[in-house]
Parts: sequence; C-alpha cells; structure tokens
Amino acid sequence: MGALITRFAPSPTGFLHLGHAASALLARGYARAAGGQFLLRLEDIDAGRCRAEFAAAIIEDLSWLGLDWDGPVRVQSAHVQDYRDCLARLQAMGVIYPCFCSRRDSAAAVGAPQGDAPPPYPGRCRTLGAEDVAARMAAGRAFAWRLDQARARAMVDRRLGWHEVGVGWAEAAPERLGDVVLGRKDAPVSYFLAATHDDAVQQVNLVVRGEDLRAATAVQVLLQALLGWPRPDYRHHALMRDGAGRRLAKRDGDVALRDWRAAGYLPSDVRKRLPEWHSMVTLA
Ligand SMILES: [Zn+2]
Repeated sequence: MGALITRFAPSPTGFLHLGHAASALLARGYARAAGGQFLLRLEDIDAGRCRAEFAAAIIEDLSWLGLDWDGPVRVQSAHVQDYRDCLARLQAMGVIYPCFCSRRDSAAAVGAPQGDAPPPYPGRCRTLGAEDVAARMAAGRAFAWRLDQARARAMVDRRLGWHEVGVGWAEAAPERLGDVVLGRKDAPVSYFLAATHDDAVQQVNLVVRGEDLRAATAVQVLLQALLGWPRPDYRHHALMRDGAGRRLAKRDGDVALRDWRAAGYLPSDVRKRLPEWHSMVTLA
C-alpha cells in the first residue's frame, strides 16, 4: 500500500452535526498519523434531496472546526457521465437488469442505506423477457437498474470480504441486501456505485465511516471485484448517540455544528464534545 488516503464524503442533504465532525476527525486522524492525505467529497448525486446551501455549509463548518483537507473537493454531480459509463460496463457484463416496479419500491434503496432498511427487493423484474423489456422501454416506462446479485456473485469466484482495521478479515454477504438499485432515471447512479467508483479513482485506501454503512460495504466490495477496482481497507466506527440513545440525525437541529457556532461556542469547545476518537487511530 502506498501513502494512506482517507476521505470524508457527506451528502449535502442537511447541516453537519457532531457525529459527522467526529467521523471526519477520525478519518483525518488516520491520514495525519500516517503522513497521508485526507480528502473531502460531496456526494450530491440525488438532486431531489441535495441543496447547494448545504454543500456550502459543509465547507464552512469543516473549515470553522479546523478540519482541513488535501486537494480540491470532489463534487459527484460533476462526474455523472463517468457513473453512467460504469453502469454501461455492468450492463455489458450482464449483471444488472431494468426494474419497472414503482418508484416507491425502489426510492428507499437509492440513497445510502440508513436505519431500518426496507426488505430486499423480491426480484420480480429479474426474469422479464427481452421483448417485454424492449416494449416497456419503447413505451417510455421509468425503470431502475438493479444488480443481479446471483449472477454477479457467480462471476467473482473467490472469497468476498475486506480488511476491517482493528478487527481483521470481514466476510461480505452482499446478497443480504438483495438486488440493490445501482441507477435510476432521476438519480443516475446510487450510493453503492458512485462512492465505490470515486474511492477507486481517488485512490482511497482506507474508508472510515459509520457502522450503519457496513451492509453497503458488502455490495461495494462485490462491485470492486466485478469492475477490477482496488479494495480499500475499512474502518466502520460506532455512531454518536444522544442522551436517549438515539443516533444523531441531521434533523436534530440542536446538535448541528452551526448551532453551536451561533451559540458562541469555539471550535475547541465543540472538539471537546467529540469522542476521544483521535486516540483510537490504530493501523492494525
Ligand atoms: Zn421490478
């Protein structure tokens, strides 16, 4: 492995809170401890949920906290064609198929999976005939591209998993999420594919993020194997919770970094409220 490269990759769908700051601080801590790089990426593919004001706020809040990053900020919406090309590659490999089920069925699957995941898609459109698909497409029916887990897994004839820093080998079971959505008309590519693609092109070799994304990692290492991309190491950290044990969410305004700032707190005050994660940087 060359120099360590980590990243913080929020979606501009709300204001950053303490949990985000802690995650960014940990990722940055790994990079700084190893003399590597810490990158910032804005995952703003889902135009319906992302806002420019939140993107600007992310930059501002991180800067205020002193969480500086290396190089330019990568903005995913500027690379849509690259993601479409990835989908085309997967289509040529025969591992994705169009799903015409209602948007409601697939809407929850396009963003980063969080909280209570919907039950896996039952695969209704996996067996549609070519004529049927062509007719529906000719009629302008909206569809999503879904990963054919069974076919994809069959093409990767080796153990699937990743190195979890501090733990060791983690076995991947991507089939647990079912045939996930990789692309959609209104969101050209899903979190699974865009984040994996960007980690590869940005040469990120340690992904530090919350444990809520562990299930997504299983799908992402499958995509890496299919597309011939290097597999980073991963460090899934615990999520920050409030006094009642609930995980912090962007909707909880009282923990937003800018509210702390507006209330007159200094960056050093906020940092003191973060878990002692900077001392948990281990490169095992
Ligand atoms: Zn379907």
